[in-house]
Amino acid sequence: MNKCYLCGGKLERKNVNIARYWGKELIALNDVPALICQKCGERFFEAKISNKIDEKIKGVLENKKIIPKINIPVVQFS
Ligand SMILES: [Zn+2]
Repeated sequence: MNKCYLCGGKLERKNVNIARYWGKELIALNDVPALICQKCGERFFEAKISNKIDEKIKGVLENKKIIPKINIPVVQFS
């Protein structure tokens, strides 16, 4: 994939910080390689990266490893 499928813009490889819900648990991941559209800003993750994100979260939760935690603001939208 080298073009944004939403707008056709050019994609650039960049590491980003993301947060994913796993059940009710919210997990933050830093430095995940993503493809960012230069035009609309949409970001995409390649299939192998998406799989790795899932594996990583699963691994961390199953091993009950001690991982750093952050407090985040929670906003009720509706
Ligand atoms: Zn785009």
